[in-house]
Order: sequence, then C-alpha cells, then structure tokens
Amino acid sequence: MKCRHCKTELKHVFVDLINCPPSNDMLKQEQLNEPEVFFPLKIFTCHNCLLVQVDEMRKADSIFNSEYTYFSSFSTSWLAHAKKYADMMVERFGFNSASQVVEIASNDGYLLQYFKEHGIPVLGVDPTANTAAVAISKGIPTIIDFFGADFAQKKLVNENIKADLILGNNVLAHVPDINDFVKGVKIALKDTGVVTFEFPHLMRLVEECQFDTIYHEHFSYLSFNVVKRIFESQGLEMFDVQELTTHGGSLRIFAKHLQDKSKEISLNVAELLQREEAAGMKDLDYYNDFQQRVEEIKYAVWEFLIKTHKEGKKVIGYGAAAKGNTLLNYCGIRGTDLIQFVVDASPHKQNRYLPASHIPVHDLDSIAKHKPDYVIILPWNLRNEISEQLNYIKDWGGKFVTFIPKLNIS
Ligand SMILES: [Zn+2]
Repeated sequence: MKCRHCKTELKHVFVDLINCPPSNDMLKQEQLNEPEVFFPLKIFTCHNCLLVQVDEMRKADSIFNSEYTYFSSFSTSWLAHAKKYADMMVERFGFNSASQVVEIASNDGYLLQYFKEHGIPVLGVDPTANTAAVAISKGIPTIIDFFGADFAQKKLVNENIKADLILGNNVLAHVPDINDFVKGVKIALKDTGVVTFEFPHLMRLVEECQFDTIYHEHFSYLSFNVVKRIFESQGLEMFDVQELTTHGGSLRIFAKHLQDKSKEISLNVAELLQREEAAGMKDLDYYNDFQQRVEEIKYAVWEFLIKTHKEGKKVIGYGAAAKGNTLLNYCGIRGTDLIQFVVDASPHKQNRYLPASHIPVHDLDSIAKHKPDYVIILPWNLRNEISEQLNYIKDWGGKFVTFIPKLNIS
C-alpha cells in the first residue's frame, strides 16, 4: 500500500479501529437476517509527506450507492452555514450573472440554491442519484458523476464550462485519488477563478481525539501543511484559510492558480502553517500516541454503559450518523441492552437499523414517550444545538452525554 499523494510505501500506523461495516449503510428490517460485510479500518501516516490516510481502497461506487441516505437539507444548521458562505463569497469576490459556480458533491442542492438566489449560474456534480434528483427537481442543474481530471476535461471544459468558483464541502477528504481530484479542479478553473474546500482539520482530530470521524468513506485526514503541498503539486496556491467550528473544527481553504497574481496572500496562511508546525504536526511523533488515547475512550464508554445498566437506567442515542456508528462499532456495542434505540430527525433514517449494532432508529417523539435517563449525543460537535432542542428531557431528570474528547454528563 502506497501513499495516495507521494506514493511512498506506508508503514506507520496512526490508528487501527480493526473493522466495521460502511458507516452510512442504514439497514432495513429484512437486512437484519442477512450477513453484513465488515471492512478493515486502519489509518496510516505517510512518513514522507505526513498525509494521514486509510490504507484500504474500496471501490468508491460501492460506497456511494444509490441508496445513500444523507440529505444535507435535513440539517438546519448546515443550511444556515451554506447560506452564510454563499453570501460571504458573493460579497468578497463579486460573483454575478456572468459567473459560473461549480460545486463538487453538491448533494441535494442545499448550498447552490443560495448562489442561484443571487442570480448566479450554478452547476452541481454528485455521484449519488437520489440526492442529485432532488437537486434537479429544485432547478439546480446537476451532473451525476464522480469528479476528477478526466471528468473536468470531458464534461466541463470540452462543453465550454470553466468555473469562477469551484467549491466542495466535505469532499476533499472523501476522494480516493486526491491528486487526480485536485488536478481536475485546476483544469476546470478559470484563470482568475477561486477554489474553496472545507474539510475537518486534522489538528482538531488529534488534539480532541475525534477518532469517530474516521470511517471508510473518509480516505484522507488533512492538515493545512499537507493540503497546501498537494495543491501546489497540481499548480494551485493557497491564498487564504479560515478556521470553522463545523464538524468539530474544520478548515476552509482558498486556492487559485499559481500564475494568478490578482489576489493577495492573506497572513492567515503563514500563521496557520506556523501554528501547525509549532504543534509538532511536521514530526511523525505527533501521530504516535493516538491509538492509546482512543482506547481510553473505549474504556470510558464501557464503564458508563455498564454502570447505567447495573443501575437500571434508560439510555438512548441521538443522531444516526457515521460518527456514532464508528464509536459504537469500535466499542463493540451490539443489540439494545445497553442503548435501547437511537433517534434521528431524518425520515430517511427512521425505522432502519444501525449497521453492525442493529440498534433501531426512531423518530424524535420516541424520546418523550420513553423518558430516558441519558441521551448520548453521538454527533458531539452539535451538543449545544441538540441539548437546547431536547431541553425538555430535564423535565424528568434526563441528562446529556458525550464521550469525545472525554466523558461529559450534564
Ligand atoms: Zn506521502
């Protein structure tokens, strides 16, 4: 197995989560009687370029199958984030009706709709047929395909489409061939065009032990240093970076053609590079004690669940998403004895079951009916928002629980 970026043979394990099924596969009732496929989940650090990456390459099209159930528009906070971004970009770069915005992994059109409201031509690219169909029905033109260099040339440039803005949120870390992907961005970008990508920041992942953000669909774990290196290898230069609170701490990078001198390089670029270096991210040692810290969290989960079980407490989870599945599977939680069910706001997930653990997914009304003593917030990054929304559990003395970065009950 070689590094996805620099092709060096990988030999340093960052963390080994042993194995689990694909995190986004929610099971239907009839699937509970069928065998489930588990894949190894071992993450390496490349000692040459320090790209942290999953070692096992599943065919992307078998993960993002047409049943993929994540619809971005079901998250109100994510919609607000998208609108704020679109307004900020239009204000800063002056995009207008003569501009072209291309979003990679455009999902159900949750973000492009806000550029469309400004009268700016938009185009989505997404391999998932059912979410893309929703986008198209909302009037967001969408090509159902995977993005890469070949796609950029044949489906965009050869069709006279070049972008003033290419953006992608939570896609850069999800592409198997990151070099080819960034090469495609370079090909499809106008001479003075702008590129932005958002992805979880590896520094946050390591410092806050966010191991549950690791899953098969997430191929790369990115520091600013390494992303800068990958983009430069394809002739793109960073000119700004912002730190965001989304997904437990993300980066939004701004890139342009290396030859484009029309944009000033923000001081944020050097500042973050320096901060990552000061944290030790350019040394292999930085990545070495992660496994041990992850194991400590596993023991804390076990202690909590065994204690509450012995006390006869009712425990449920909130949020049937990839994070929760990684946590539950790594901790070996199976069945409904320790966690009775998980609730989720999305009707696409209700009445299904979490992979491996087979914990059922209920609607939000089930909380008031069941009156749990503890609600484990699986997407811990949304703790404040969710605990505010479910504040009524305090009426019967219910408490909220998160395990990352450490056990927190309130
Ligand atoms: Zn490498």
